[in-house]
Amino acid sequence: MTDHARYPHLFTPLDLGFTQLKNRAVMGSMHTGLEELADGFERQAAFFTERARGGVGMIITGGVAPNDEAGRGSALTTPAQALGHRSVTEAVHAADPDVKICMQILHAGALARTPDCVAPSAVRSRIGSYMPNELDEAGIEKQIRDFANCAALAQSAGYDGVEIIGSAGYLLSTFLVEKTNLRTDRWGGSFENRMRLAVEVVRRVRQTVGPKFIVIFRIPGMDMLEGGLAWDEVTALAQGVEAAGATIISTHFCWHEAQVPTIATMVPRAAFTQVTGRLRQVVKCPVITSNRINMPQVAEDVLARGDGDLVSMARPMLADPDLVAKARDGREDEINTCIACNQACLDHSFTGRLVSCLVNPRACHETELNYPAAEQPRRIAVVGAGPAGLAYATVAAQRGHQVTLFEQADEIGGQFNLARRIPGKEEFDETLRYYRRMIDALGVELRLGVAVDASALEAAGYDEVVVATGVEPRTPDIDGVDHPKVVGYVDAILGRRPIGRRVAIIGAGGIGFDVAELITHAGTSAALDVDVFAREWGIDFANHPRGGVTGVALQVASSGREVVLLQRTADRLGRTLGRTTGWTHRLTLQRRGVRMIGGVEYVKVDDAGLHARVGGEDVLFEVDTVIICAGQTPKRELYDALADAGRRAVLVGGAFEAVELDAKRAIDQASRLASVA
Ligand code: NAP
Ligand code: SF4
Repeated sequence: MTDHARYPHLFTPLDLGFTQLKNRAVMGSMHTGLEELADGFERQAAFFTERARGGVGMIITGGVAPNDEAGRGSALTTPAQALGHRSVTEAVHAADPDVKICMQILHAGALARTPDCVAPSAVRSRIGSYMPNELDEAGIEKQIRDFANCAALAQSAGYDGVEIIGSAGYLLSTFLVEKTNLRTDRWGGSFENRMRLAVEVVRRVRQTVGPKFIVIFRIPGMDMLEGGLAWDEVTALAQGVEAAGATIISTHFCWHEAQVPTIATMVPRAAFTQVTGRLRQVVKCPVITSNRINMPQVAEDVLARGDGDLVSMARPMLADPDLVAKARDGREDEINTCIACNQACLDHSFTGRLVSCLVNPRACHETELNYPAAEQPRRIAVVGAGPAGLAYATVAAQRGHQVTLFEQADEIGGQFNLARRIPGKEEFDETLRYYRRMIDALGVELRLGVAVDASALEAAGYDEVVVATGVEPRTPDIDGVDHPKVVGYVDAILGRRPIGRRVAIIGAGGIGFDVAELITHAGTSAALDVDVFAREWGIDFANHPRGGVTGVALQVASSGREVVLLQRTADRLGRTLGRTTGWTHRLTLQRRGVRMIGGVEYVKVDDAGLHARVGGEDVLFEVDTVIICAGQTPKRELYDALADAGRRAVLVGGAFEAVELDAKRAIDQASRLASVA
């Protein structure tokens, strides 16, 4: 049943005067890495076309550089390059002529990956690769010309508009902020001077493209920098770029080097939209809001309370290209929700790998990973309903196979059932909701609480058996590991065993960090309460100091436990955590007083505590509880029994390979195998 009525704001068209957006959903810009591939245009065409068919009103592409010194990916500087882009715009418009596609122009400034990078002043970014070259007057004029040329080429390539990024630590934003703009000429000093380049770029782009072309300006609504933009500077900039010809202003909430999480899973949904709401009061043009808007009801609520005219969803469109269509058709319970883990998108992007999505491995692989109807539907048994088993079962069922999914526990989810209990990881519930719904919708026969064995599978005569039995926690070989004060991580997370006040955690991988988070946590999860989140990270929404941040965590609640997190490797702890989120976990635990020690040799556990050697010294950690988070080993009894009986089976997920197993690899592997089953 069509369900527009549930989301009246989301599905109201927006009239821009010269053109109309069919709804308020925008697919935000993301650099995917497709841009740099030899067959990049073909793959981008497939990627964006799927999203256009999925109901979104406007798409903004990944960033394209206006010249070589701006480089952080592909550039658009010549008519020949525009031809490639044309294949993308034509494909999108052919899929749905009402969908608009705008190209983001990204001048990375001091963050460009070239020694020729440029900036207002020779100030190197903490995360930049090179000291930037200070622009002179002629150099600034060249940058403006290049922006205008790039916009004109985008127009000739069939885009409906461009987005100019003026935030995140890229060129235009480094002119805005005093710490990166030390100039004393007309491009530096007063804010009027510092914003001159952004305004001039918009003015020149508008002059070049004419009045009937969308020009979006991405503004640093809160740059999260100590000494960043003050609120009156943000509003002056918004009014300046609007007067210069911007059609739409889009709020952005970070510099890449800022030390406040703005999109990770620990950030509450729609935490920052109130800032867009305030900005909306001072401009006449429509504004786009963003950050952690991952479900249609969140988008609808944001629009209904006036926090924006449009909502940008970037990662949610990786996770589910049909998000908007499913909302429109009343099928929101079928949405594969972005859980804000960053594991396959931003972590990949920041380490030079092709972007995809943990919950949807087809993202950015649309030309090579597909789930066509099976030529010969077969009866398939999948054993284990963790991430790998769930992915295999649902992909195989989608292809028309008759699937029975066995799970020993009384609920689906496997390791996801542990993850969802960690404060800040509540979004994992959405993935389980999605799979529950898809099991139902696709007619997978779910057999919970069944420990199926090889002979039962044999007797049932399945055409294919898939073993996704997962992992079991590793018990390290330490004297006294069976002492009553030793607790496994599963028992710790599920609350099956009491945890004392003084705790040592053996193992500092993802689960060691998760357990430390769980046992030091107190009060409401910050991910569920914007005020708690703001206090923990020193964000001041009410007073909007420079950058929006106070520079200190205002309040960090803690359970009061004394926790020490240990590993044998001498490296810094947390190195195996996600590139874009690891630092947030480390910082949170440090603020709660968790000690982190590497290079530990475990000796024994006894009534006194955990005995170890650290740096050649004997150390006694006087603790009440020792929690083991020492990784896992594959659970393969069923697979081995099938093999012994001469039965071939497909092995997926942790049962296949437990080392460095994570849900991303498990879902990807299972989906790929099921795509050819
Ligand atoms: P893991 O990341 O492999 O970490 C296992 C930890 O145990 C390491 O710190 C390792 O460090 C230690 N260890 C290994 N063998 C040991 C032994 N015999 N004795 C004592 N210590 C030992 O595994 P995990 O933490 O269980 O996580 C499982 C998977 O889930 C991983 O892929 C992880 O990335 C993923 N996950 C990720 C997150 C996240 O990124 N947010 C959260 C949860 C889970 P030493 O060898 O140095 O002692
Ligand atoms: Fe969202 Fe994680 Fe997928 Fe990225 S990888 S789009 S954060 S679910």
